[in-house]
Amino acid sequence: MAVVKFFKEKKLNDDFFFFDMELDELGQTRCVFWADGRSRMAYSQFGDVVIFDTTYKTNRFGFPFAPFVGVNHHMQFILFGCALIADEKEESFLWVFQAWLKCMLEKYPKTIITDQDLAMGKAIANVFPNSSHRLCSWHIGRNSMKYLVDLKSKDGFMREYNNWLHHSESIEAFENRWGKIKATYNIDEKHWLSKMYNIRNKWVSLYWQDIFTAGMTTTQRSESINSFFDGFVNAQTALDEFVVQYDKALLARRNAEENEDFKTLNSVPNYHTSHPIERHAGEVYTRVVFNIFQVELRESDSMLAERVRDGGNHAKYAICNDMVVFIKNCTEDGEPFATCSCKKFEREGLLCRHILKIFKKKEVVKIPQRYVLCRWTMGARYLSSVMMVETHNNAFTPLMKWNAQNMCFRIAQSISSQEMYEKIMPKLNDIFKMIGEMASVQEHRSCTDGQNEENQDVIGSSSWPPFSSEENIYGSHISIVDPKPIKSKG
Ligand SMILES: [Zn+2]
Repeated sequence: MAVVKFFKEKKLNDDFFFFDMELDELGQTRCVFWADGRSRMAYSQFGDVVIFDTTYKTNRFGFPFAPFVGVNHHMQFILFGCALIADEKEESFLWVFQAWLKCMLEKYPKTIITDQDLAMGKAIANVFPNSSHRLCSWHIGRNSMKYLVDLKSKDGFMREYNNWLHHSESIEAFENRWGKIKATYNIDEKHWLSKMYNIRNKWVSLYWQDIFTAGMTTTQRSESINSFFDGFVNAQTALDEFVVQYDKALLARRNAEENEDFKTLNSVPNYHTSHPIERHAGEVYTRVVFNIFQVELRESDSMLAERVRDGGNHAKYAICNDMVVFIKNCTEDGEPFATCSCKKFEREGLLCRHILKIFKKKEVVKIPQRYVLCRWTMGARYLSSVMMVETHNNAFTPLMKWNAQNMCFRIAQSISSQEMYEKIMPKLNDIFKMIGEMASVQEHRSCTDGQNEENQDVIGSSSWPPFSSEENIYGSHISIVDPKPIKSKG
C-alpha cells in the first residue's frame, strides 16, 4: 500500500516517526494515525492543551480527517499528529485516542477541545478521564445558526440570547437569564438550546473560568485551524496524496514558527514605559506573548484600585468588577503572590491588568517566577530539544542547525559581567578554532573518501541538563507495526 510505503520511508529518515493503522476484516483501512518526531517533540513541550477537530472532511474516500492541534510559544497553531477515521463511531474514536496516547507515551493533555459529537465525547471520557473536555465555541456558534432558526425571528430573542451567553456576570445571573428565556420563548426539553443548556459546563466560558486553554476558545482561532490545509488538500485529494500534502502543510506551519523564533531572537521589544516589569516581560516572553502582556500593562494604567479591609493577612483590592488578593512575601518562595477573580492567569497563563495594577502599586519590579509559564518563553522550545535529535548517515537536519543557533544565542544572552566574559570568551574561541579544524578535515575527507559510514549520532553532550523520565518521551523504543487485518470492536 502506497501509504504504508510512504510511512516506512519517513521512518527511515526520522527514528521517532510513529504510525498505526486499523484494518477491517477485508483488509481495508478503517483508521490511520501518524505523527513525526518533531510533532511528538512539540507535544512534549506544548501538550497541555489539544484541539481535536473532525469537521474538516476531505478526500474522495469520505474519511473524516482529524488533526490533533496545539498552540506553541508564539500562540500559533501547531500540528501534533493526524488521524483519518472511517466513521464517527465511538469505537473508531477509541482506537484513535488510544493510538494517540501510545504515540505520546501516555502523556495526557490537561485540556482537550473538540467539536460536539456524542460518540467522541464518550470516547474522550473513557480514554482521557482526567483531562478537561471542552466544546469549541466556534462550532457551537455555527450550529446555533442552524438550530435557532425558529427562535431567531422572534422579537428580542437574539438580544436576550447574546446577553445570556456573553454578558452574564456570574453563574447565578446566567441561570436566571436562562429561566427567563425558557419561559418567554416556550423552549421545551427537546429543543437544541435545552440540550446545550444541559451540557453548559462543557462550553459556556463562565463554567471554565479557571481551566487552562492557552487562549484557544475564541472563534477566530478555530477558523484559522480550518485554513491550515487550504491550498494543500481538497475534497478530491486521494489518501495516498493526502499524507504527502499533509507533510507540506506541516512544513509551512514550521516555517511560520521559525520566522517567529527568529523575530523574538533577533529583535528588541518596543517598550512603551520605563517600568522594569515591562522590561522583564520583554526579556522572558516571546514577542507575540510580550505584546499581549503590554496591552494588559497599558490597560492597568487607567484603572482605579480600592482597598477592601477584611481583616486578613493579605491586601485586598477591588478593581472594576474584579477582586485582587495580594501577599507581598509568599511563605513558599518569598516572592509576591496575587490572585484575581477574573482568572486570566489560570486560563491563559498570563497576568491580567488587575494584578499588574496592584504589582505597580506595590512596586513589584519583576514578574514573580510562578507567573512566567515556560510555555510562553523561548525556553519552551529549545531548552528541552537538544537531546532528542538522532540521525542516521550523518544527516545534518535543520532542527540540529536550529538547536546550534539557539545554543549560541543562550550563551550570548547569559554573559552578563566582565568576569563571565573573560572566562567564557577564550573557551568560545577554542570551540571556534575546533570548528575551523573540523571543517578543513571534512573538506579533505570529502576529496579523498566519498563514502559515508552508517553512523548514529546523538546531538548534545552530557553537560546538557538531563530530562526527567516523565518528560523524555523519546527514551523508549518505538517500533513500526506492519498493518495486519484487525477486527474492529464494533
Ligand atoms: Zn484580573
